[in-house]
Amino acid sequence: MERKNLLKWSHFSDILKPNHVVFSLKAKDKLQALDELLDVLIAQKLIKNKKPILTRIIDRERLETTAIGDGVALPHARVNTGGDITVVVGKSEKGIDFDAVDGNKVYIIILIIWNPSIPGLFNHLFAGMAKYLRKHDFREKLRNARNDSELYNSLSEIEFHLPQLDDQVISRASLIWRLQEIERNKKKADSKKKAELTTEGDYIREELDAALLDRFDRLMARYGFAVAEVEDGACQGCFINVATGMSSAIEGSNDIYVCENCGKFLVASQKKPNKT
Ligand SMILES: [Zn+2]
Repeated sequence: MERKNLLKWSHFSDILKPNHVVFSLKAKDKLQALDELLDVLIAQKLIKNKKPILTRIIDRERLETTAIGDGVALPHARVNTGGDITVVVGKSEKGIDFDAVDGNKVYIIILIIWNPSIPGLFNHLFAGMAKYLRKHDFREKLRNARNDSELYNSLSEIEFHLPQLDDQVISRASLIWRLQEIERNKKKADSKKKAELTTEGDYIREELDAALLDRFDRLMARYGFAVAEVEDGACQGCFINVATGMSSAIEGSNDIYVCENCGKFLVASQKKPNKT
């Protein structure tokens, strides 16, 4: 299977080509930026039709912004373009409004298009990149790159830890929490609304691991919910305190853990602070 090739990846340079770097984006907004990045792929005949891919990326952005904060965005879509994965990176000098959670403009945009035949892969890619992109020094290095080859060389430092079966569950808690909301809303929705929710849920499912989804679906079928928040150090699924170390790791993180007592996915409290 194609998966064999994927397991060879260890560095970002294995999937990012030097001519897939736009050193200075002309775009002034999100849509223009995505359009400009897709033009690179059009010029290299890697994609034929920009519109459906752009629509797909924008639909995904509407679901939840892919701006991870600190000036970085990772827009993505799962589209069959023939290859396994295609990445284009753009840098904006002035920054682009990407509806980032932290309200900051985005300076580095990493657009990822991956093949539908490799579900769950994105999650690992995302985790690998986020690990580097969360480092202040690394982000500064990208922003201070003086030309496209410097930018490319810095990006090439990103290393991936590839999926192993017994890996600790690392994923984006906000997505699985959202999926649970969707599944619960589906139960009381009419058929039109149900179809909408299913489409939205499928977008999320495409980004999550098969093993994680399998566990999620089993928990949902059995208990009606699969994800529990941690509040005041206790799992809100079983009200047993979680280990202190795990509790503080969950706090403020977007990773998913599993309750050692009830087996549900644990996420940090999802209560949105009131805007003042
Ligand atoms: Zn529990």
